[in-house]
Amino acid sequence: MGTTHDRTLGWGTRSVWSGEEGLYYQGATQVPVVHSVTFGYDDLDEWFNVAIGKKPGHIYSRNTNPTLVPFERKIAKLEGAEAATSFATGMAAASNTLFTLLKPGQRVVTIKDTYGGTNKIFIEFLPGFNVDVALCDTSDHEKIEAEIAHGCQVLYLETPTNPMLKVVDIARLSRAAKARGAIVIVDNTFATPINQNPLDLGADLVIHSATKYLGGHSDAMGGAVCGPTDLVQKIFHFREITGATLHPMSAYLLLRGMKTLELRVARQNENAQRAAEFLAGHPKVDAVFYPGLRDHLYHDVAKRQMRGFGGMMSFSLKGGFEAVKRMIPRLRFAHRAASLGSVGTLVGPPKVTSHVELTEAERKAAGIPESLIRYSVGIENVVDLIADLDQALAEA
Ligand SMILES: *Cc1c(COP(=O)(O)O)cnc(C)c1O
Repeated sequence: MGTTHDRTLGWGTRSVWSGEEGLYYQGATQVPVVHSVTFGYDDLDEWFNVAIGKKPGHIYSRNTNPTLVPFERKIAKLEGAEAATSFATGMAAASNTLFTLLKPGQRVVTIKDTYGGTNKIFIEFLPGFNVDVALCDTSDHEKIEAEIAHGCQVLYLETPTNPMLKVVDIARLSRAAKARGAIVIVDNTFATPINQNPLDLGADLVIHSATKYLGGHSDAMGGAVCGPTDLVQKIFHFREITGATLHPMSAYLLLRGMKTLELRVARQNENAQRAAEFLAGHPKVDAVFYPGLRDHLYHDVAKRQMRGFGGMMSFSLKGGFEAVKRMIPRLRFAHRAASLGSVGTLVGPPKVTSHVELTEAERKAAGIPESLIRYSVGIENVVDLIADLDQALAEA
């Protein structure tokens, strides 16, 4: 695999410096936010050469913009990719990538536990373009391999998954896909490049919702796709036409957030491990789903392909949804909201967030307990989080 990690540098150094080389306006040390929609040229030859891509420069901000460049370079560097392109949201990254790579009559193999919006692309939109979608049980690697062997142009994975933290074996499934000449895409949002690099495991493209850990402060939306220059260029071209462009102000906020990515993720890995161990030993907790727990169904695969187990977990309560209703409002240090990956702990039951549109029977079929609570661990001090969970559980 041709990944391009600078292994002489640590993750913290890369988070701060990668992608930021080059001089900014009048010696500024921070990336300027260029709000200009359009870029002017006095010399028509130069204008022409920039327009046809023969000379570096910018023409119009739907296509390229100076503030987006360091964001794209930084995420590419962190994933060990040749190139990256940016998007207005994570869903724009996922949808633009799939619609670039799939044509009518072609086939994509994926898993049932992709992010809710991504799942909608597979079940609601791609079939309308006559793309055949094989939606496999996430834990059934044999079945996924059998569907790949049937023939496909794209394999789309996500790991760990929402909200059950299932882990799929990226190296194993990439090998199967390569044998059929398929492009492998992995949504790496939950893991972050600090904990997992899918390109090192054989994937071709990595997708991020930058809205989550990359930005890390729940104050900007964005997305990215990273991979080899030729593929990224094709996806970029589709994006400049569909117009799902990242806003320069958001690019700036995401870039600022990314400088502390390693610090935040290291703390979140540690906090999540300790909180998961506490919950696993609590009498009111029925089950804890966290890849860092030794008895987690996918602990061994997670240990092979991840450097850290991440800040996301879920757990179910013995007292059913009534217990969830009593517990969640009692938490002092958690936003009761959708989304994840921010500096602040964030909590929500899938029954009212990601899986609200399903009936109780459908949630049961999907393996989502009614009393499940998803917990996105922040960077607070873990003793405070554990004390908070403890006092709220006393009410459950
Ligand atoms: C949030 C999320 C997305 C979608 O990202 P947006 O920025 O909300 O569009 C995609 N994949 C995963 C795993 C996510 O958590």
